[in-house]
Amino acid sequence: MQLTTMNPPKLPLGTLQEFAERDFGLTGAWSALEGERDQNFRVRGADGVPHVFKLCHPAEGAEVLHCQAEALEHIARVDPGLPVPRLRRSVGGDALPVLTHEGQGYPVMVLSYLEGQVIGERVLTPGQLRAMGAMLARLGLALRGFVQGAPANRRLMWDTRLANDLDGQIPRLPAEDQALAAEVMARHLAVTRPALDGLRAQIIHGDVHPFNALIGDDGAISGIIDFGDLVHGSLVQDLANATADFLFPGRDPEAVIMDMVKGYVSVTALEEAEADLILDMIEVRLMMTPLIAAAKAAEGIVSHGSLTLFNTRSVPLIRELRAIGRERLQNAVRRAANYPPKVGPGDADIATTFARRRAVMGSKPYIFYDPPIHMVRGEGVWLQDSAGRRYLDCYNNVPHVGHSHPYVVEAIARQARKLNTNTRYLTDQSIEYAERLGALAGDGLSAVVFVNSGSEANDLAWRMAKAWTGHSGGMAMEFAYHGVSEAIDAFSPSNAPGIWQAPHVRLLPPPDDYRGPWRRGEAGLADRYAALAGPLIADLDRAGFGLAAFMVDSAFMTNGILDVAPGYLQAVVAAVRAAGGLFIADEVQSGFGRMGTQFWGHRHHGVHPDFITIGKPAGNGHPLGAVITRPEILDHFTSLGPFFSTFGGNNVACAAGLAVLDVIEDEGLVGNALTTGAYLRGQLAGLMRRHEILGDVRGVGLAVGVELVRDRVTLEPAGAEVKRLTGLLRDEGVLIGGEGVHGNVLKIRPPVAFRPEHADILVQGLERALGRL
Ligand code: PMP
Repeated sequence: MQLTTMNPPKLPLGTLQEFAERDFGLTGAWSALEGERDQNFRVRGADGVPHVFKLCHPAEGAEVLHCQAEALEHIARVDPGLPVPRLRRSVGGDALPVLTHEGQGYPVMVLSYLEGQVIGERVLTPGQLRAMGAMLARLGLALRGFVQGAPANRRLMWDTRLANDLDGQIPRLPAEDQALAAEVMARHLAVTRPALDGLRAQIIHGDVHPFNALIGDDGAISGIIDFGDLVHGSLVQDLANATADFLFPGRDPEAVIMDMVKGYVSVTALEEAEADLILDMIEVRLMMTPLIAAAKAAEGIVSHGSLTLFNTRSVPLIRELRAIGRERLQNAVRRAANYPPKVGPGDADIATTFARRRAVMGSKPYIFYDPPIHMVRGEGVWLQDSAGRRYLDCYNNVPHVGHSHPYVVEAIARQARKLNTNTRYLTDQSIEYAERLGALAGDGLSAVVFVNSGSEANDLAWRMAKAWTGHSGGMAMEFAYHGVSEAIDAFSPSNAPGIWQAPHVRLLPPPDDYRGPWRRGEAGLADRYAALAGPLIADLDRAGFGLAAFMVDSAFMTNGILDVAPGYLQAVVAAVRAAGGLFIADEVQSGFGRMGTQFWGHRHHGVHPDFITIGKPAGNGHPLGAVITRPEILDHFTSLGPFFSTFGGNNVACAAGLAVLDVIEDEGLVGNALTTGAYLRGQLAGLMRRHEILGDVRGVGLAVGVELVRDRVTLEPAGAEVKRLTGLLRDEGVLIGGEGVHGNVLKIRPPVAFRPEHADILVQGLERALGRL
């Protein structure tokens, strides 16, 4: 280590004045300034303009000094308004002319003198601390493009990263401080230093503290001086160092830290890892002061004013920080840096967390698994629980393009930072998203109304259908699910199996070619099932309702993910239209490419809807729903009264929706749903040959159903087995659901980012789970 244990040179004033006049044309009144290793003067020129005359220590090294000069000129170019000294070149154009005295050469630097007082022991206000933090960030920005070799090779004793070079000084500290010092240094060695090596690095000032920073009479921070410690270091070092040095015992260190960080991030965002290291770096910086003082004392060097001052307050400050508590302070830094605090309950056991949930969210929770899984993170097709266990997500269709997809997350974050408002104003995202949805919908469905969920979309489509047709009756599939609102509850018999009733809604038996009245291989399947619609529609007419709309999920998900005979839905829709009804294609499950071949599920059936409703996957988890319909249907509806959904079509939701469409396109996810789905069904069919209980494998794209039966002839449903199996699969790290009126269908409905290698993991897990069933 280059211990800068050198005292400043002491040349006669006359020699310096002579040189200044000859080489810089600088004359005037000279007064001495403090310097740790240079001989410094302020020279108020005859013209009144003050300069700093800096006679550099000959041991400093020309390379380092030239670097300093170039850095100042670089900053002047990049951020001319940043108050740092300006280099004044000699009359001959030299940045660093050499003064020779008694055979020894001393480089000389002349700088502009910045007005203001050294901050020193002044206590800064919150506003001043923030201004200081902001200025540090500006300094970092001004230096980030500065490339020079010398600072990379310096080993400066004040470089926080090299703090462990001072470990040998610990025994020289007062006995009562040694254990604390050892602990701080050990942590630096084990945790902070290795982490710092992975962070943003560049040439930094290296030694910002209250005696290198100036304040004007007006209270504004007026400058940062002394670029003698320029070093290639971690960007966050300047902030951490300065923050440590602006702390005063007994003066709310938490607030000081927060203000400095807030100021900094008002200019440059901190990376999360940087924010999380600041507290440790502050402690190390504080602990370095007594260690450096001890090192100097041991070499017989007397510490000067500011070091002595820092020395007296550093250890008490560390103790004060410890008393406040590490977790609290780290969270304070995180909040100041716009990162949410780390919350503790993640460490609590499942029973405690579940009890907390029941206490505030209802004692009869609708929740999967016993005991439930406490999820804390998602990435792609994987979920992670609070114990760090990973699960392959074969169940969730909401994170359509993958959990926390970085492109979508970034789109949401960017838009949230910029603007989030509603469609009472013209907003670009809503218009663009509506245009893209309309183009995808085709069939003349070019009018979009935004809401926030699938239920709301269906509710609104239903209202529009009634308004357009003048009818008030509806038709849905038996055991359908379309949402939570009161109107849509009537279309969701699966919400209340056995006790469902809605006088104005008729339920169509599903075209189940596995266990229905007409089965796979029989002739005329489509027509026979479709013919069941006629009497229901007639019944609605008789009852005085008339058919306003038929609502269907093209994946027939709640019916157990059916393979529907080609032509079936076309025939039903034809009957609906013949009765003056409209057709609502609920694409909450089947849309966005899930069924492979096509973007929309209804296309798979060759039908043309009057409404497409979307939800779940549209925003990849961000709440977003919409009705896509024909303009005349929407215009008629809005002619009856205004429709406005506060959150519907907000900028952030639409940014999420647009990003999802981009990812589907960029990653070829519709095609992936087709190929991976086919591969998965192939593998499952193989499993079926070895396991009698697997009665049927079916589905389209990445909507896959596996029906479990106790007997392949009687088709006795194996509902209890499915329940057990999903639990066993959980143990295998695979998440899957049960579905169907008998609960005996394995529902495999993963994010469409699911790839064949994931299908393999699922099938292998399923095989093992079946072995334990
Ligand atoms: N329609 C279908 C087909 C659904 O699967 C769902 C939700 N599972 C909904 C509508 C309701 O959507 P949301 O929960 O967003 O209201």
